[in-house]
Amino acid sequence: MSDRSGTRRSARNEMASRLTLAVLLAAAVPSFAEDAADLILRNGRFYPVAAPGAVEGSLAVREGRIVYLGADAGAAALAGPATEIVDLAGRTVTPGFIDAHSHLLSLGAALAQVDLVGTSSYEEVIARVRQAAAALPAGTWVQGRGWDQNDWPDRAFPVHAPLSRAVPEHPVWIGRIDGHAALVNARAMRALGIDRTIGDPSGGRFLRDADGEPTGVLVDAAMGVVAGRIPAPEPDEVRRRILEAAEHCLARGLTTVTEMGLGGGAVAAYRRLQQDGELPIRTAVFLANDPALLASWFAGGPLVTDDRRLSVRGVKLVADGALGSRGAALIEPYSDDPGNLGLLILGGDAIEAVCRDALAAGFQVGIHAIGDRGALVTLDGIERCFGGPRPEARFRLEHAQVMRLADIERMARLGVIASVQPTHATSDMPWAGDRVGERRLAGAYAWRKIAAAGGVLALGSDFPVESADPRLGLYAAVTRQDLEGRPAGGWLPGERLDREEALRGFTLDAAHSLFLDDEVGSLEVGKRADLVVFDRDIMAVPAAEIPRVGIDMTLVDGRTAFRQETTP
Ligand SMILES: [Zn+2]
Repeated sequence: MSDRSGTRRSARNEMASRLTLAVLLAAAVPSFAEDAADLILRNGRFYPVAAPGAVEGSLAVREGRIVYLGADAGAAALAGPATEIVDLAGRTVTPGFIDAHSHLLSLGAALAQVDLVGTSSYEEVIARVRQAAAALPAGTWVQGRGWDQNDWPDRAFPVHAPLSRAVPEHPVWIGRIDGHAALVNARAMRALGIDRTIGDPSGGRFLRDADGEPTGVLVDAAMGVVAGRIPAPEPDEVRRRILEAAEHCLARGLTTVTEMGLGGGAVAAYRRLQQDGELPIRTAVFLANDPALLASWFAGGPLVTDDRRLSVRGVKLVADGALGSRGAALIEPYSDDPGNLGLLILGGDAIEAVCRDALAAGFQVGIHAIGDRGALVTLDGIERCFGGPRPEARFRLEHAQVMRLADIERMARLGVIASVQPTHATSDMPWAGDRVGERRLAGAYAWRKIAAAGGVLALGSDFPVESADPRLGLYAAVTRQDLEGRPAGGWLPGERLDREEALRGFTLDAAHSLFLDDEVGSLEVGKRADLVVFDRDIMAVPAAEIPRVGIDMTLVDGRTAFRQETTP
């Protein structure tokens, strides 16, 4: 399943020499070498998604595409001398998972951070930072987070000097566990202009020693004063982060991810990776709402590469804030903050204008709307742009967390896809009811009602806000419980999805939401062979076991993109 180029010609020669035999064994051996598969996965249980249930037998791949799915006997006829045959020993295969709303480069940035959670002394923090710095060229920023001086022997705030001595050549910025303070070293202080003359902003402080020199600890608003001076990562670093994040995703069974709201520089990094043939995971890009960026893309039209590894055909808008911080725009005040209606970031007219331009240029639009007013205003803008149902435009409402029931119906009627994240529901369930109250919960994270209205659910994670692991999304979708099984029976259990619906949301319907369903998202003859081999049947194990089902292999275009080391 590794690179198979070059095998076909030798296969043809060998087949020609066997022509006589082939005629005699016409039923068992293909008549032409072109018919031989590159790969056959036999003795497996395949969930095609396009049709309900499972197929016991074999799946064959030629030139990256599925050419057969059915009984083992039928696949045997596709075996040629160069065909790689893998006996799955009854293991389960699904289409590769697709995350309909994610941030791959941000995941790469998060993975590049030095993890300082659980450090028990300042020395340990310094040792971890020093080790990370050693792997990077001098002058490269080293960032990390998670230290907590309350876990150290003397619970005083650290001072930069020991860190600066241990790591003199790299600027260092490491955040405290709660995000309300950061420690920087001497090299970073020089780069950021932090010296004894710097003033404290309102709502923040640069801690100082007895002589008035900054100690390197920045508290609250002081971080914001200087954080913008940290330079954007170099192109090499961007590339490294994309590749690292892609590897992380492939190991979790994802074969397609999204970049929701990407700027021009990052788009260029993706284009270079794709052109070099090095983009390991399918990536669908939604452009950020930057007028100059959109104008240039709208003039040139969408990008969909022949190999379908990269598409740039979406625009991401943000209509409101988030529910946890009470920034989501509500029609009536927050139940736990009377007088607060949240924050509307874009009005209906602005949304309508971008939607019109995007539609005319062949782009889809995904609009972040978390509160019911955010969704109302967004659907108003889309409806004026559409003038009626336009399911073929595949516009999307991102998050769709709190909606009036009438807007759930309207979303479905207009053909607007609900791009939702099951793990957001299980992260938010402890306090979502406080924010919106009992009555509005009827339209909150209301997947069942969306499906019943005829809406399409494209599932995702919003990683790195949540884990990228689609097994956790599948589990949250079918249980609406946390990983400890709380609450018993699930939160608002009437909105749970069944397992086939959840799998479809993470595969075929996510592909639909990205205009990729003609190529991936199901196990069907003619589609690209993006698939996952699990060590147990993720569709049949008890729901509590879903997060722990192992991933043995992930294939993209019929090639191994991830393989569990312990797999025989
Ligand atoms: Zn997001």
